[in-house]
Amino acid sequence: MMSNASSQSRQWRLAQPKEVVTYLKLNKGKIQAQRKLYHKRRCELEMLIISQRWGDDTPRCRADITPELLQFSCFGSLQVDHMNGGGGQERNTRRRRAVLDGTRSLDDLRVLCELHQMVHAICRKDSAGGLDPKTWEV
Ligand SMILES: [Zn+2]
Repeated sequence: MMSNASSQSRQWRLAQPKEVVTYLKLNKGKIQAQRKLYHKRRCELEMLIISQRWGDDTPRCRADITPELLQFSCFGSLQVDHMNGGGGQERNTRRRRAVLDGTRSLDDLRVLCELHQMVHAICRKDSAGGLDPKTWEV
């Protein structure tokens, strides 16, 4: 049997279900803040791992990998870009888990700013607007 701290606290939680429910009710905000921070840390770590794949110590926009994008200057927050498109087919949480596990190849991922991400999607013709210009009109 495991006897580490997390196993002991699990046993305690299972033995006192009422106290756990009360704790969860009373500390909703605190628990949500912890989850948010956990998610943020995982996002940052994923971005750092992808940056290191391209030789950076800190995440930055890597529009220089696709020189056509450099006619625009960077704008907006950093995002993970699927260089060959198809980002919509892969769920962010699944991709992030695979990157952090080391089970996913990093060769088709890079960090881009919002503007370069959008311009690249339009150049690739896989923007949300679709290929038919009629569907772009409001
Ligand atoms: Zn940029």
